[in-house]
Amino acid sequence: MSEAINVAKIFGEDVFNDTVMQERLPKKVYKDLKKTIEEGKELDLATADVIAHEMKEWAIEKGATHYSHWFQPLTGVTAEKHDSFISAPLPNGKVLMSFSGKELIKGEPDASSFPSGGLRATFEARGYTAWDCTSPAFVRHDAAGATLCIPTAFCSYKGEALDQKTPLLRSMQAISEQSLRLLRLFGNTTSKKVTPSVGPEQEYFLVDAEKFLQRKDLIYTGRTLFGAMPPKGQELDDHYFGTIRQRIAGFMKDVNEELWKVGVTSKTQHNEVAPAQHELAPIYAECNVALDHNHIIMQTLKRVACQHGMKCLLHEKPFAGVNGSGKHDNWSLTTDDGKNLLEPGKTPHENIQFLLVLTCILKAVDRHADLLRESAADPGNDHRLGANEAPPAIISVFLGEQLEDVLEQLISTGEATHSLKGGKLQTGVDTLPDLAKDATDRNRTSPFAFTGNKFEFRMVGSRDSISGPNVVLNTIVAEAFSEACDVLEKADNFDEAVHDLIKQYATEHQRVVFNGNGYSDAWVEEAEKRGLPNIRSMVEAIPALTTEKAVSMFEKFKVFTKAELESRAEIKFESYAKAINIEARTMIDMASKQIIPAIIKYTKDLADTVVAVKEAGADASVQAELLTEVSGLLAETKKALEALKVVADQAAAMEEGEDQARFYHFDVVPAMEALRTPVDTLEMIVDKEAWPMPSYGDLIFEV
Ligand code: ADP
Ligand code: MG
Repeated sequence: MSEAINVAKIFGEDVFNDTVMQERLPKKVYKDLKKTIEEGKELDLATADVIAHEMKEWAIEKGATHYSHWFQPLTGVTAEKHDSFISAPLPNGKVLMSFSGKELIKGEPDASSFPSGGLRATFEARGYTAWDCTSPAFVRHDAAGATLCIPTAFCSYKGEALDQKTPLLRSMQAISEQSLRLLRLFGNTTSKKVTPSVGPEQEYFLVDAEKFLQRKDLIYTGRTLFGAMPPKGQELDDHYFGTIRQRIAGFMKDVNEELWKVGVTSKTQHNEVAPAQHELAPIYAECNVALDHNHIIMQTLKRVACQHGMKCLLHEKPFAGVNGSGKHDNWSLTTDDGKNLLEPGKTPHENIQFLLVLTCILKAVDRHADLLRESAADPGNDHRLGANEAPPAIISVFLGEQLEDVLEQLISTGEATHSLKGGKLQTGVDTLPDLAKDATDRNRTSPFAFTGNKFEFRMVGSRDSISGPNVVLNTIVAEAFSEACDVLEKADNFDEAVHDLIKQYATEHQRVVFNGNGYSDAWVEEAEKRGLPNIRSMVEAIPALTTEKAVSMFEKFKVFTKAELESRAEIKFESYAKAINIEARTMIDMASKQIIPAIIKYTKDLADTVVAVKEAGADASVQAELLTEVSGLLAETKKALEALKVVADQAAAMEEGEDQARFYHFDVVPAMEALRTPVDTLEMIVDKEAWPMPSYGDLIFEV
């Protein structure tokens, strides 16, 4: 047995949290800081100096030597620059440890190497990081020692957002303002703030590090570019929720311990559908804290996996033929006094406020389905959304029987008079308790599902930042609330007006509701009839960012300027092109230097065998047949390799931008697939000893 963890004792021990602040900061400073955190009041420098000093003293007690403004540029991963606390040497040759308010609040990393999508000319290389005091600072322990990490936003000299956090904070402001407007109309005078609550469930794969290192595709791209299916895949469903193997259990224990120390509420862990696939879910938190914590989770999974001789794969589709990984983004709206706007209560038909919130969300999702789809687009997710795996690329909303029934009553008669009840669940076993049955079954195939008192957006990629999807959700719902309030604030008869509005929204946007099987082909057809967009790839999704509809909404709610949206679209096209270019180059490298040479050697051995067997006067027909088959596939491989080289070179020579990205998607990706096909067939027939890299079986069944 390994050592027990005292969770209550270690939880949050490395976080500069409210308890630490109360203990350490003078009362007045503490109060000022709370005002900034809760009400966005500006912090003066003198106060910041005191906070910085205490933060430093606390961090040094935890062993920290450095501090770091930790931020989230548009590279998809987090960035950090470490500065030690030492100041210039004193006359006696010693140094002091110092950290000023200015250093806490503002940093100035050389920003010229981060993607800006044309927002920042190279002569304007300045970029600033600004302390996000609503997400607590923490001390991280790793091989570098201990570092005080300060969550920060990252923007240009002119204040344009260059990161994932700034727009998220802006969208949180927008949704709070509009939600409060709506609450006031329903007589709520007490709530001061409304915050999106977000619980992202993180899926990942674990593979053995030694085997990982024998695969250039995993090293360079995070996914396998070749690989035949092993005799057993996930067809038995025996991995999902299966007993967690000891090596994995030891890993999870260490992950949890590290996460708990930095205040991440790691709650649920289990095996996922595919062999070697797992999931970790924290308890939901305020949107921007959830974002930071999700980054911490991804980094911790990677770091701890290495310590256990494994590699953690966060890619959306590390292996063809078995399930890929996503990140379910659970989202709801919570007031500062603890009320959830998405809580229907037992009788949703009587809950008018809830019905308005719900129909506003339907309207938002229907109107901006393209933006939601875009927010989940990344190169890896192209292998899941709309490809051979769900969720589908079509945005639809699952409401469940109870709410769909209420909605239907509203649409057909204008009045909802009852809500379906769950009743009792009878197991037929006397010793088991009767369970109260939920009024609604679960649905696993919907990209956007109502699950009791929250929506679950299931399209998000496992590797992606959750910022994009939540920025979109917050803003589109803010817009829908704002439009509803515009009508209702002017209404003479509020009750009648709200009733009419709910009916109107339900009727106009009913088409986005779908409770059936989202994986079926019939749905694709049905969705087309309903006029719902089916955007199949990242390159086709990106233009949604810069439509007039998107620009005017994001500008209205001060989430993005047009220039910021254009820059983001540009960065996405470029990053797509770069990702596919790396994949294509890696395939070319592996095929030329490993696979083809291995097969040439194998055919030579076969040929030698044919000759030897014939010489010995025996029947060599089987060997000869195999030789013919392998040689044929080898020729096909070589041809496909040459074709891939041609299109990859053509693509690389193009000017960066949308056309180039589309060329990568529509021309280079098919050429990659054409190379993969004969190679995977070869892997099935060639002697395992001759194959130059670990197989799928080795990777996913022998962790
Ligand atoms: P599932 O049915 O998907 O397994 P869980 O209850 O395990 O659902 O929750 C999944 C995630 O949703 C967790 O991170 C959980 O904290 C989060 N969650 C639960 N309630 C809410 C809510 N009201 N708002 C946002 N997230 C929530
Ligand atoms: Mg879930």
